[in-house]
Amino acid sequence: MQAAAAPSAVDVAEVVLKHYEDELPRTGKPQPHETTVLAAFVLSTAKTVEEDAAACLSGSKRSKIGDAIHDSHAEVVARRALVRWMLAHARLALLGVESAVVVGGCIFVDTSEGGGERRLRLREGLGLHFFASEMPCGDACVSASSGRRTGAKEVTTTEAPPEASEVESGEQATHRARRKPGRGEATLSMSCSDKIAKWLILGVQGCLLSRWVDAVPIRTLTILLAESSGCRETLRGAQESAQRAFWGRTRGFDRGSSPPRACTPPAIRVISHRDAAGGIAEKLGLIIGAGSSSPSRASKSGVSINWSALHYFEANRTFGPIHEVTLSASGRKAGASKRLRTGEIFNSKVVSTISRYHTLRSFLDLLEEEHGSALGSMAYDDLKAGLGTDYYETWKRMKEDKGSIFSFWIAKRDG
Ligand SMILES: [Zn+2]
Repeated sequence: MQAAAAPSAVDVAEVVLKHYEDELPRTGKPQPHETTVLAAFVLSTAKTVEEDAAACLSGSKRSKIGDAIHDSHAEVVARRALVRWMLAHARLALLGVESAVVVGGCIFVDTSEGGGERRLRLREGLGLHFFASEMPCGDACVSASSGRRTGAKEVTTTEAPPEASEVESGEQATHRARRKPGRGEATLSMSCSDKIAKWLILGVQGCLLSRWVDAVPIRTLTILLAESSGCRETLRGAQESAQRAFWGRTRGFDRGSSPPRACTPPAIRVISHRDAAGGIAEKLGLIIGAGSSSPSRASKSGVSINWSALHYFEANRTFGPIHEVTLSASGRKAGASKRLRTGEIFNSKVVSTISRYHTLRSFLDLLEEEHGSALGSMAYDDLKAGLGTDYYETWKRMKEDKGSIFSFWIAKRDG
């Protein structure tokens, strides 16, 4: 495949920031006294990164509690929205469904050759790009030279769940696997740095979609930093940390072998927020810079927004662009607690469309549509194992590789 030139970091940042400012409704955006983190996946065409191709955006606070149940970091919310969106596109490609809501055709092409297993691949000329308005938590935040630290806790054993009370003091080590920061209950989600490292090796499509879709690589990662472009040392240090955390720590893996590994080295770029779109990130509540004009933005927004372009599907129907606001602490849509108080234990209306429940439901719907028969219910983890994908087998081997950062992965909460 002839790869088109990747868009610059500034191009990616501006498309995301302007899209967030202009296209997303106010609901869920931070109040003047609040701050939030924005993460997004954007699709570029052969020519340029197009505004209306902005795939999935997520604004999300760093939740103080509740990570043990739901990982609401913006990076993970954006990726879940991306999987939901790709699942809808896989359906279109597999069933040959024409849909008025799809602009420019389906992102996947069918590469199956008669009779065999159906295989889909990202259409030639398309490139996927990741953006985050601050350095993802975990190893990327650690810098021995500058004293940069992360709130994420190092994972040193897989024998017992980590204790919440562990506090790391002194200098922090780099090249380590970490779990998400959190008070109260110990968090069992791996840090975003670790999850991104996993996506870069296996592709961002995840285990379920690997049933049909070849690895979808992330071509570029753009991270916005609060520091101004004048602080060259800081920007360079952050760039080195990001490079190490997302790609360098996994150098030992045998990349470039058989699928599903997304083996192309990504471009990892760290830029000052002042260099993108006239510094609007600060105005949008995404950056609290040194000498900030908005020192009153003291509290974190308590909600998560997830937004995707085009459509998703549910119960065999497709819907237009989706914009959903959930409470970060519970991971459920607003109104959930009221329903629970009235004795309702489970109501799918308050479960986010990017929850495991909905993702699995959509996946099973598609499997049933493809096979033309009902499958019944299946446990999420059993299903992943039962699909027999290269993705599952490769991921298993990565975790068994003693000493690798993936050997410290805490089970169950992978994303
Ligand atoms: Zn994170």
